[in-house]
Amino acid sequence: MKNVLLVDLGTPRDEISEPLGIETLAPYVEAALGDQVSVDVKSLELDNLETVQPYLEQKKYAAIGLSTKIRAYDKFQRSMAATMHYASESKVFIGDILATYAYDDVLGQYPEVICVRGEGEESFPLALKAVFEQDDARLEGISNLAFIRSGRLVETERAPFDVKKALLPKRLLTQEVLKQHGIGRLEASRGCAYANCGFCGVIEKYAGREWKPFPLEFILQDLTVLSELGFISPYFTDEDFFGNDTDRVTQLAGLIGEGKRAGNINRDINLYINLRANSILGVGFGGEEEAVKLLTQLKVAGLREVFVGIESGCKDQLAKRYTKGVTKQKNIRAINILRDLGLEVDLGFIFFDEDSELPELRENLNFIYEANIARHDCQLIKRLRVEPRTPIGVKFAATHPSAKIDLNAVEYPYRFKSAAVEAIFYTFCEWQRADLDVIYNLQAFCRGEIPSGYSRQEVKGIISQYRELDVQFLDAVIAVFEDGQDNKDGRVREVIKEFAVHRNTLDSFLAQRVYWLNSNFRRFKT
Ligand code: SF4
Repeated sequence: MKNVLLVDLGTPRDEISEPLGIETLAPYVEAALGDQVSVDVKSLELDNLETVQPYLEQKKYAAIGLSTKIRAYDKFQRSMAATMHYASESKVFIGDILATYAYDDVLGQYPEVICVRGEGEESFPLALKAVFEQDDARLEGISNLAFIRSGRLVETERAPFDVKKALLPKRLLTQEVLKQHGIGRLEASRGCAYANCGFCGVIEKYAGREWKPFPLEFILQDLTVLSELGFISPYFTDEDFFGNDTDRVTQLAGLIGEGKRAGNINRDINLYINLRANSILGVGFGGEEEAVKLLTQLKVAGLREVFVGIESGCKDQLAKRYTKGVTKQKNIRAINILRDLGLEVDLGFIFFDEDSELPELRENLNFIYEANIARHDCQLIKRLRVEPRTPIGVKFAATHPSAKIDLNAVEYPYRFKSAAVEAIFYTFCEWQRADLDVIYNLQAFCRGEIPSGYSRQEVKGIISQYRELDVQFLDAVIAVFEDGQDNKDGRVREVIKEFAVHRNTLDSFLAQRVYWLNSNFRRFKT
């Protein structure tokens, strides 16, 4: 019997998110290798660890799979050092973000590992088997792998996984996630029916453009498991919940309702999904009226919150650079439809990118005011991550041949082309740094399971007030650069001073409650 360890390395944020990737892989390993293996599934986040070392001190593993995340390269490096020291005989496999988007750079540093690119349900067990049978030559015939052989990089063919054959995840860590008020997650589909946004890694992740719906029975069974375990607010991880089959959404809403009425699914279960703005507008399936009908059916089944990646209110960013396939007016309409239905709205927004110009920053701000989202709990003021192997990342690499991937952020670092935009962005980052940890913690609270007696709305309300101040601060800084007068540094300093007073006033009303929430529900660091 060989021991296999699967570890989710987590992120530096204090958000407890169910490590669904490794819980998904575990049953495939067991199905393929049967009683030849014993699989342990661990999460550094749940165990509050910075490295896999304690696991390796306790048990000898023949193979170790590390599921990597953004901004966790230090945890990855520490874990690799631990495997070399405590488990030098073990084979190490890398999955998720680093293995999918930056495998060549990772292999440059760790040539002994095997990277599993994208979906690993079929590839990982086959690769494990080949390694256990000491038949490394077989690896070249297994899809979705990258590794070094005789000093050369081998990238095997890509192959999407057929989710119709999916096995239910082995929810070994779910109970602990619930205990820590974390986020329970499940899948209803993978991929995106649009698959055309310039910054998006969906094609690389799933080895193609296909939108792949899981069978309805699978979704229902998985939701029932989460319900039985005690989850009230699970998240669907789907990139595009409607995809190109809205009849299926109607059926699913009906089945969830039936499950609730029959007592198989907790009646209080409420759901979070991701939708494209065009889906909310019913583009391609009967327009707004049909979309509202569908959303209403889902709401009756328990839909609570919808994430929409609106990304921008700037014409050129939306159409030319992000290639979102929507206009700012459509984005506003989508937000309003959700609000009118009484659904909570979560938003994706990428305010700055390499090509942003000063007037475009104003265009985005005007959009934020017009859409009435300045006082919203989402972080709207962010910059684009140029992720390798996305359409924008590929273009960036071609035009910047000496660019090196930042393996911690899994992105190509870049300078803004406009000096004014660069100054504004870093002024804002500095301003935001003062309360970023606190806000992340509060956000994590909202996203996770809410302990009884507490309200997600209350915490969102607190975050929104800080976010609104962020927008006002950014507006004032942009105004300094717009007016053509001199002494910009001095005037920016004045803005910072003025807004520090506003923030102190806000803090004096809210800080006590914020600190109390954080100290009670998160590993809050000061
Ligand atoms: S709509 Fe979302 S999932 Fe689809 S390509 Fe755009 S960002 Fe990616």
